[in-house]
Amino acid sequence: MNRYVTQHPRDAMALVTASGSLTWAELSEESARLAHFLNRIAPEARHIGLFAANSADYVVAVHAVQSLGKVLVPLNTRLTMSELMGQIETADVDVLLVDESIELPIAQFEVTSRDEASLTTPHEWTDDEVMSLMFTSGTTGRAKAVQQTFGNHIASAEAAKAHLGYGPSDQMLIVTPLFHMSGLAQVYRSARFGSTLYVEPKFDIARTLELIATERITHISLVAVMLKRLLEAGLLRHQLRLLLVGGGPVPRPLLEEAERRQLPVAQTYGMTETCSQVATLLPSEALAYIGSSGQAIAPTQLRINAEGEIEVNGPTVTPGYYKQPEADAWTDDGYWQTGDLGTMTDGYLYVHDRRSDLIISGGENIYPAEIESVLLRCPGIEDVGVIGRPDPTWGAVPVAFTVGAFDIDEAKQLLHDRLATYKHPKAWVAVDALPRNANGKLMRHRLKEADHDSTR
Ligand code: AMP
Ligand code: MG
Ligand code: MG
Repeated sequence: MNRYVTQHPRDAMALVTASGSLTWAELSEESARLAHFLNRIAPEARHIGLFAANSADYVVAVHAVQSLGKVLVPLNTRLTMSELMGQIETADVDVLLVDESIELPIAQFEVTSRDEASLTTPHEWTDDEVMSLMFTSGTTGRAKAVQQTFGNHIASAEAAKAHLGYGPSDQMLIVTPLFHMSGLAQVYRSARFGSTLYVEPKFDIARTLELIATERITHISLVAVMLKRLLEAGLLRHQLRLLLVGGGPVPRPLLEEAERRQLPVAQTYGMTETCSQVATLLPSEALAYIGSSGQAIAPTQLRINAEGEIEVNGPTVTPGYYKQPEADAWTDDGYWQTGDLGTMTDGYLYVHDRRSDLIISGGENIYPAEIESVLLRCPGIEDVGVIGRPDPTWGAVPVAFTVGAFDIDEAKQLLHDRLATYKHPKAWVAVDALPRNANGKLMRHRLKEADHDSTR
């Protein structure tokens, strides 16, 4: 049966949020109502954007869109209006579903009681059909929409179940955004395996600790900075069976501290292009292989090419970027080049660095080119180079090196208007000139070295 939602006991709990809970029967009724509404206002629409904070409605919307056989386009709520409009255009979004708390200067409709929960048969997906388009930042500054098929999502969910265990008695806590891969993957896993989803609007340390202590949470997905804060606040194991930590490197001291508290941390490696994790280090192996992201999750295969780059092949790998095939990263024999540098020892993967200039800050991806192109619009800035500076809390933060006298407030205003806050430089360094090679290409590694020497 090619539906991504399996039958679950009607009265079992599907979704728990601070503002209320839904059983599987209620969740399916709510989704059917929204699906009916979507069909009423825009029967021809194919691509449905979702611009909303984490909530029960978010999960309802995912199921409504997918049960209609339409393509879901989750959008990052931290984007500025111009970034959002760019992504809506890139992904050919026909209809945008927006959270009540967000005001947009566009025509809006509301779901009304006319929209009955008509019980039409949910769409039967085939493996190659695209279910979702999820954005990832691009090297040139232009965001790319990753196509994710039904086959990709199901393979990802099944592999996670086989390796990490997910079932109807599990309770998964979501504190990361549902518009990113690790969050959305939990929605599909829960729908398939009947686990209860606890969805939090945002990551709140005290509330997360409380839910873990009182609600028998078994699974949680985190990025390193969240794990760090939870450990500092006294996180203990309780009923946790799995803390998945990914999205970027996890500093060793954090893994060691988690180990001391017997927290079942699994370090994972994956990306939007592979529909979540492709390698995971099981908690039982954590100490023996500390620092590794574990073995490839079968049937996915990983290998390292001659340049030291990690390449991946398997059923979770995207068919490519939407309408940007020139950005695809296939090898001749069908592996996807990840852009990450790594090594493999006895089948265990160690991720070292990015081949490109990507800065990963608290799980959000930032390409320097995007920041540089905005700053070059600022009067007085003659040249600019952005690099990631290692940061104990965020992993890395963007730092701008500028040439020329300019008004910092003006520069900040430009950033404010055009780029999400997490992309704004956290430090500014005035220099006489930037290290450029004979062809005028910025030698970012030289900038990094200079920054390292001066901040030591
Ligand atoms: P995203 O598509 O936003 O999930 O970002 C994927 C990127 O995050 C990967 O290509 C890596 O650069 C980085 N990443 C994910 N997991 C790890 C890990 N375990 N160690 C180091 N980097 C990671
Ligand atoms: Mg990415
Ligand atoms: Mg990420």
